[in-house]
Amino acid sequence: MSREPANYCVEDPEIEEVLDMDSGELLPVRDAIGSDFDKLMRLRMELAEANQTEEEKYVCPVCGVGVYLVCRRNGDEKRFFFRHRSESGNCPAITRGEITKEEIEARKYNGAKESRAHIRMKEILFESIRRDPDFSDPQVEKVWKGMERGTWRKPDVSAVWRNSVRVAFEVQLSTTFLHVIAQRRLFYREQGGLVCWVFKTFDAEAARLTQDDIFHNNNRNLFLASEETLRASGERSALILDCRWAEPRLGADGVSWGWNGRQAPFAELTLDTGGQRVFLVDRESLDISELQAVASEELKRRFSAWWAAQSLDEESWASFRTEFRLRGVSLPRWPREASGLLNALYTAKAGRVVGWDHPKFISAAHTVAGSHKRVLRAFRAALRAYGRADQIAAEDSEGRWARKVSGYKAKLAARDPEYERNRNFDSLIAFLFPDVWSILSREDEG
Ligand SMILES: [Zn+2]
Repeated sequence: MSREPANYCVEDPEIEEVLDMDSGELLPVRDAIGSDFDKLMRLRMELAEANQTEEEKYVCPVCGVGVYLVCRRNGDEKRFFFRHRSESGNCPAITRGEITKEEIEARKYNGAKESRAHIRMKEILFESIRRDPDFSDPQVEKVWKGMERGTWRKPDVSAVWRNSVRVAFEVQLSTTFLHVIAQRRLFYREQGGLVCWVFKTFDAEAARLTQDDIFHNNNRNLFLASEETLRASGERSALILDCRWAEPRLGADGVSWGWNGRQAPFAELTLDTGGQRVFLVDRESLDISELQAVASEELKRRFSAWWAAQSLDEESWASFRTEFRLRGVSLPRWPREASGLLNALYTAKAGRVVGWDHPKFISAAHTVAGSHKRVLRAFRAALRAYGRADQIAAEDSEGRWARKVSGYKAKLAARDPEYERNRNFDSLIAFLFPDVWSILSREDEG
């Protein structure tokens, strides 16, 4: 009985990775070979055919020679590995140890630059830049000489921005070769130029893991180019890039980093040659205030859920008091001192009774007007802020609420002290219910 192996790759392949010349991706050979026999046979045929032409599909990433699939039999068992299409015997992937690890990395990087995906990305950038009258002298792979003798780079595409700074656009197909970015930033800074990295794809998870280098150094912004941005560049006569930036988000587990993005013309970007940064959104200066805002939102949610559950233990209250005080918001000593206000406003906000034991929304309104007169003004503002007028009218089938309103309205207008709000709660209202606060503060002025 023959068993299906988990993977058809031999245990000790000489060639450990192949380069996909369409996508520019480096594939570990176990992934390229896989466990699907039919698929593997189709790949074997495809590679054999591609090797008859100049359009190789998979090549050895170290020497750039096309590869094909070879079968190794052991009894009934078949296993596969890759071999160079022409074996000269001196590929470092086979001989080992003759070139450094850095050299191997550099060869893989240069190999990926020969892929069809990379070539198309260069065309996209070049064509997009040509549509933008603020750019002049666009060049593809023009050698850029350093001031130090013998130093040079060959950026994928370069062009002069508004007659002031030459920008080197370097394509990255994925996050595989991010380490070369760090090396090049220094070179372009010394030349008074600016390097702008443009990606083909964006893997949020990989980006998160590498944000300490490229993304952090570039203000947590990155750029993508595609057929779509090329079309947009043509329509708007400007180099349009798809910009992405990291921002703090509030989730169930607290604050995390998420990604946001939009298309933008190059003219909208900030160019920082000293820091070798190109960015749309200035993440670094936003971070602190934005994180504080996110943390405040998180506190409000936590507090409102705790209040709605009505367990109201003193220990939690004391710790909320501390957190609120740090934000300049005062909570009274005990929960019961604020219960009328908080029940009234959370009820109005939710459109259903919070804190009290009433079956109907309108019963809560009667309780406020009858037992919490000093909260009434804020409650009325909340009914307006959260659009509860129709709901309350619908529940007021006998007109009792309407009669009550006409009863207290004059007193409110006359500023009857019995109905004046307790100003000690102002910071609390402003923090938890900003929409209510904006109505109340307008009333104070008027
Ligand atoms: Zn090789």
